[in-house]
Order: sequence, then C-alpha cells, then structure tokens
Amino acid sequence: MNLRMGVFGHPIGHSMSPAMHNAALAEVGLQGSYGAYDIHPEDLEEAVRSLREDQFRGVNVTLPHKVNVMPFLDEISSDARTIGAVNTIVQENGRLIGYNTDGQGYLDSLLTESGEELKNKKVLIIGAGGAARAVAVSLLKYGVQVLAITNRTMSKAKEIARICEPVGPVSVLPSTIAQANLTGFDVIINTTSIGMAPDIDRMPFSLETLKRDSIVSDLIYTPLKTRWLQVAENKGAKTINGLGMFINQGAIAFELWTGRKAPREKMKQTVLDALKKQEAPK
Ligand code: NAP
Repeated sequence: MNLRMGVFGHPIGHSMSPAMHNAALAEVGLQGSYGAYDIHPEDLEEAVRSLREDQFRGVNVTLPHKVNVMPFLDEISSDARTIGAVNTIVQENGRLIGYNTDGQGYLDSLLTESGEELKNKKVLIIGAGGAARAVAVSLLKYGVQVLAITNRTMSKAKEIARICEPVGPVSVLPSTIAQANLTGFDVIINTTSIGMAPDIDRMPFSLETLKRDSIVSDLIYTPLKTRWLQVAENKGAKTINGLGMFINQGAIAFELWTGRKAPREKMKQTVLDALKKQEAPK
C-alpha cells in the first residue's frame, strides 16, 4: 500500500509538516509520501474533490482553510464540529471525514510537559483566534477548574465562550482586568501570534505580577523560546513552548491515517533539525 498524504495551505512554503511526516513514514517502515500543496482559497473545493480522485489517504489543512473546508467534507468529528474548524481530513472508502487534532495535541503537550494534574487549575487564555478555540474546547473537555479568556477584539473572545457553552463555562475578561488579576491564574497560555519571528521582541502580556509557581505556555515555536517565555522563566515559572503541540497534532493525524503509533521522538528531532537549518545564517 502506498499512502498519499499532504497539507493544504496558502502560503505553505515554510511548513515543517512534510519533513516531519516523511520522516515518520520512513521510521515505521511504511511506503508513502506527504507533500505540501499551496491551494488558493478559490481552488479549495476542487482540491478537496481531487483527494478522492487521486486516492489520498488524507491531508492536513492549515491557514486559511481550516473553517472553509468544512462544507466540502462528508462527515465532521464531534470535536471538530464544536471547535468549528478542521485540521485533518481522512479518506475512508471514498468518504472524507474532518477531524481537529490541534486541541488534543495541545492538551497532551501541556499535561506531559508540565507533569502536573491540571484539574484543579485556573487557566487564562490570551488570544481568541482559531488556535484558541481548539485549546479552549480541549481544556474544558478535560475539566480545568476555571477557564478565562482575554483578547484584543472582545467580540471574538465572546464568540469562543459561546461555542464552548455546551462543554463548559468560559469567563471573558477585558485585558486590563486579566492583567490586574494575573496572580489569580495558575496556567497562562499565549495563543496570539505576538512574539513570533520576525517580531521576536514583542510580548502579548506583561508578566510583572506572575506567581513563581505558574505554568506559562506559548503556542509559538519559532522561536522555540519567545521573549515572553524567557521573562516567565526568569520569574521562576515552568514554561512550555508550542513545539509539543505541533508534534502531537501531527502524530494524532498520522495515527488516524496509518493506524500505527506515531514515532513522536523521531518527528520532534526532525522538526528541531529543520528549525535549526532555518535559523542558521545563510
Ligand atoms: P489567528 O486565528 O489569526 O488568531 C491570532 C490571534 O492573535 C487573535 O487573537 C489576534 O487578536 C491576536 N493578535 C494578532 N496580532 C495582535 C496584536 N498586534 N495585538 C493583539 N492581539 C493580536 O491565528 P491562530 O491560527 O489562532 O494562531 C495563533 C498563534 O498560534 C500563531 O502564532 C500560530 O503560529 C500558533 N499556532 C501554533 C500551533 C502549534 O502547533 N504549535 C498550532 C496553531 C497555531 P484579534 O482577535 O484581536 O485580531
């Protein structure tokens, strides 16, 4: 069996997914290939149709297609439906099924890397974009004690609270209030793009009043240590970058496509090597 897989996005040039998944296929001894496909939004429906004709086992879907791809699929998993976005498509007997592995990927990383039971924790999410939706739904399904969200655009934070209603309550806080009450949170998660390369000096939030034993997490992994994580670490917090989320969302997709346990360590090392290459002076 020759497995055909890939990622749809626009732009897609810097995606680490092909290197990660091709290394994973080789590591477990499966025949197949994973390619990067730059799909213009206008061509998305046709590209999804071609998955059937060209007998793809599945694809990942990244920005800007995670929401717009949904009407072109035959079935949507309940997680992806709640989150309102799909990042993985699996073809089963000609039917295209949409999943969202971002939220579970994030939760797995947070639990493993913090080494802590999080059910008694008060959690603050900063940002209310697509990634925040997946993170919020997964944290609520897992069952944290308190979940609050703050965002520059309040209407988007309120929208996340609305989609989360069937799963659990989310408090929406203006950033001034969230900032003033930082000591009230045990876990603080940056889901905004602030601090991502090339704007590496920017911070999404002041950590002036951070508690020493907090967990501070950033979804960004370029750079691996954002300025925000560095400041949190200097204040004695446990810090977690976005690499684990990226590896885990890919690993869960790989397991859906292949039915085999994903070689997470090999996938992580491949991405770290690719990141090093990207950062090396040309
Ligand atoms: P998105 O939907 O575009 O959301 C961006 C978020 O950042 C929004 O909350 C936006 O606020 C906020 N933001 C952007 N610029 C801002 C600024 N100048 N001031 C204040 N807020 C600002 O993006 P996304 O897909 O959620 O991705 C967000 C981040 O997560 C990115 O850095 C992405 O690389 C990372 N991510 C990582 C993984 C992983 O596997 N590790 C997976 C997915 C995403 P407004 O709503 O006010 O615009």
